[in-house]
Amino acid sequence: MEENLSQETLCVHAGGELITSSQSVVTPVFPASSYKYRETTENTYPRYFNTINQKVIVEKLCALEGGQDGLIFSSGMAAISTTLFALLQQGDHVLFCKGLYGGTYHLVMSEFEKRGIYYTFAADNSEESFSAGITPKTKVIYIETPSNPLLEILDIQAISRLAKQHQIITIIDNTFASPINQNPISLGFDIVIHSGTKYLGGHSDLCFGAVVTSTALKEQIYELAINYGGSLNAFDCYLIERSLKTLALRMERHNENALILANFLQQLPEVQEVYYPGLISHPGHEIAKAQMRGFGGMLSFELATQSLTQTDVFLDSLRFIQPAMSLGGVESLICSPATTSHVKLSPQERQEAGISDGLLRLSVGIENAQDLINDLKTAFRSISATIGVK
Ligand SMILES: *Cc1c(COP(=O)(O)O)cnc(C)c1O
Repeated sequence: MEENLSQETLCVHAGGELITSSQSVVTPVFPASSYKYRETTENTYPRYFNTINQKVIVEKLCALEGGQDGLIFSSGMAAISTTLFALLQQGDHVLFCKGLYGGTYHLVMSEFEKRGIYYTFAADNSEESFSAGITPKTKVIYIETPSNPLLEILDIQAISRLAKQHQIITIIDNTFASPINQNPISLGFDIVIHSGTKYLGGHSDLCFGAVVTSTALKEQIYELAINYGGSLNAFDCYLIERSLKTLALRMERHNENALILANFLQQLPEVQEVYYPGLISHPGHEIAKAQMRGFGGMLSFELATQSLTQTDVFLDSLRFIQPAMSLGGVESLICSPATTSHVKLSPQERQEAGISDGLLRLSVGIENAQDLINDLKTAFRSISATIGVK
C-alpha cells in the first residue's frame, strides 16, 4: 500500500490488493486446510500462517504500525509466548517493566525458570531504572505503556535508545494504545505485540493476537510459531478484517469519550483520584503527548472510600456500564482490579502495586458521552450519603 495514505484510509483498504481472483470488494473467506501445490512455489496451510485471510490482516496491521512484516495468532498470549521463546535461550536475561499484564506475568513466573531464562523487573518506569536493570546477559527489554490498570506512561524513545546502545531487542505490548494512538516502531522499538481481543477486534466477540516487526525478526519468530501452532482460523480472520475497517473511527470516539469522562470524574467529591494520561495533572502527560496521537479509551479512578461493599454498591447501581472483565469493545465495561485481576495478591502486594479496594478500571465504550456521565452520576448518588459526601 502507498505510504502516504492516512490511517483511516489504511484501515479500510490496506491488504485489499492481495485479493486478485475475485471481483468482490471484501476478502472472500477461504476455510481450506488443503491447497494444491503443483502450480505454486509456496505451500499454503493455516498453520504456516500464509493463507490469504491471514495475510490480509497482517498487511493491514503492518500498514497501521509501520512494520515490515508480522504474524497473527489465536490469542494475545500465543503471540507473547511464541515471540519471547523464539528470541530467548537458556542463560539469557529479560528486563520487564513493573506491573505487567497478568497473563504475561504468569507466563514469566511459571515458564522462565525451568527454561533457565533469567528475568528482573525495572524498579520503576524511569530510564535510570531500566539502565540499572541491564546486565551483560540482557537480550530483551519488554514494556507496556500505558500500563494496566494505573495507566502509567513509559518513555518509548528513551528506552529504545538505551536498548540500542547495548544491542538489546525491544518488545512492547501496545494493546492499550492501539496502532491508531501509538506506533512504537517509529520510536525505535523492534517488536510490537497486540492482544487483538481488545481494541483491534473491538466488539468483545473474538480472541486473537498479533506481532508486527522487521522481516528478519518475523522470520525468527515464525520458525517457532509453526512448531507451537497458535494460528488463527479463516472465519475469525474475516471478523477481524471487518473490525479493522472501523478501528480508526472507533478509536477516535474511545479517545474523545475517555477524556470527557476523566474530566468529569476529576471534579467529583466521591472520586479521590483519576488515572488518565490525557489529563494535564497525570505525571506522564507530557511524554504521552509526545508519543501518542490520542490518549486511549482506558481510565481508572479511585472512589473516596476503601470499602469493598461500597464499591459493589456502586457497580450494582450502574445501568448499562457493565461490570465485566476484558476491555476495548464498543460497550463500556468496568471492573474492580482488587476483586478480579489482582485478587490472588495479598493485601500488602496489592498495596505495593497501587491497587486499592476503591480502585475501578473503566474501558470507555463508544456510547454517547452524556449517557455515560448520567449512568455514572446515578451510581455515585447510591454511595454519596454512605461515604459522607453531600
Ligand atoms: C488481554 C491482554 C493480553 C492477553 O491477550 P489474550 O488475547 O487474552 O491472550 C495481553 N496484554 C494485554 C495488555 C492485554 O490486555
